[in-house]
Amino acid sequence: MNLPLITRAEKHNEKIAILVPRGCANATTVGAFTYGDLLYASSQIATNLLKNTEDLQEQRVAFLIPPGFEYVATQWGIWRAGGIAVPLCISHPRPELEYVITNSGAAIIVAHPNFEAILRAIATEQNLRFILTSETLPSDIAPLPDVDITRRALILYTSGTTGKPKGVVTTHQNIQAQVTSLTTVWEWTSSDRILHVLPLHHIHGIVNVLTCALWAGAQCHLLSKFDAEIVWNRICDGDLTLFMAVPTIYVKLIAAWEAASSERQKSMSAGCAKMRLMVSGSAALPVQVLEKWQTISGHFLLERYGMTEIGMALSNPLHGQRWSGYVGKPLPEVEVRLVDENGELVSTRTPGEIQVKSPGVFLEYWQNPQATAKAFQDGWFCTGDTAVVENGNYRILGRMSVDIIKTGGYKVSALEIEEVLRSHPDIQECAVVGVADIEWGERVCAALVLQSSQTLTLESFRSWVKERLAVYKVPTQILTLEELPRNAMGKVIKPTVVELFRL
Ligand code: AMP
Repeated sequence: MNLPLITRAEKHNEKIAILVPRGCANATTVGAFTYGDLLYASSQIATNLLKNTEDLQEQRVAFLIPPGFEYVATQWGIWRAGGIAVPLCISHPRPELEYVITNSGAAIIVAHPNFEAILRAIATEQNLRFILTSETLPSDIAPLPDVDITRRALILYTSGTTGKPKGVVTTHQNIQAQVTSLTTVWEWTSSDRILHVLPLHHIHGIVNVLTCALWAGAQCHLLSKFDAEIVWNRICDGDLTLFMAVPTIYVKLIAAWEAASSERQKSMSAGCAKMRLMVSGSAALPVQVLEKWQTISGHFLLERYGMTEIGMALSNPLHGQRWSGYVGKPLPEVEVRLVDENGELVSTRTPGEIQVKSPGVFLEYWQNPQATAKAFQDGWFCTGDTAVVENGNYRILGRMSVDIIKTGGYKVSALEIEEVLRSHPDIQECAVVGVADIEWGERVCAALVLQSSQTLTLESFRSWVKERLAVYKVPTQILTLEELPRNAMGKVIKPTVVELFRL
């Protein structure tokens, strides 16, 4: 039996699935691709991956392809061959790519030619099979295996409070539960057309936008990367019905709207008015941003709350009253509870940690049973976020750990960054914190104690870090201190460090 995502696609054979607009500086093939094209290309890719075996049997396939048709066809090809898809991040420097490839135990790497140099070297060193998306694909399609939905489908890497990022494993069934929940409540139909501007190694872009669109038989218009002017041009075309983004993107779109002529502003706003729904999530949406966006677009953004490990859990309604500053109520089939530090349910109007139980909750952290066990309490996943319920709606109060920073919708670990900074020859000690920022949600900032008589410019510091960490993890501001503020136990007092950046 085929995966339900595939069976559903067969019903939309002639319809456009993926559209890669012209003029968006896209490195992948431009054009319109039907569900039939996607089914055929993914069966060719699956055949190529299988290479005379019957089933990849959950082998991990890491792939690095810019957003576009080849990305989607590869992801589906991996699934159809019985493999686990491990999408790599386009902005990651070599050490981070290497970490994901090694940690996931990938047996195969698929790369777009843009990334050949870096990935072929890793594949050769680790003795992995290497495939370029430009290679000619077989025209004789092999019989593809039956992939049961309980099998592992995807590993996404996400930052935690300890150590390096962990691989979050979801099964086809988990993804299906996440997708059916969203397509139902947000009333996706095959007439929808969504503009995709999010990274494709993160749940928001992969599940909420891409997979929901393809599950519904809708059109997904992919941009290779976010560019405010290009997004506005597409919105002005007036044919989109849905848009989903992180708050930072809305801030950038607002800035571009404000900089436009009044005639263009009218056309931008008219394009927004043609849409039926605009969603924000992955980070707190500041009320000022929501209000400004409402004046520009006429849309009261639908804010929702979710996480790589659980999919989406809480959402404002599609119909009916949405509250600014609130993330709404549990989605269908999602149970949510708030507990205190002893794991006891909190009383009404008392803040507590959000815990979630649902068929969308992930299976495990990849090859890390200890971390998996620690993340659950009596079958409930512990999110590490605190919230309070007011008039039936959840309000997110923040994270329980100061060491998790949310910047531009990305979750990053302060500890992971500190580990890298400590290997800088001029840095003796450091403390990385998130400082509240209207555009980024939080900015990554680093307080540094330098080796005696050393100096460091922000520019040279940043270029050194960029070679080792993804650009969104690179501190945007540094502060040189004689010593870090510490408590009696010698632990760095991070709230005090945050205050120093606010001075
Ligand atoms: P990720 O796994 O990268 O999607 O990050 C999940 C984290 O993003 C959550 O644990 C929250 O801390 C944060 N988050 C997601 N949605 C919201 C929201 N609407 N408001 C505030 N924080 C959010």
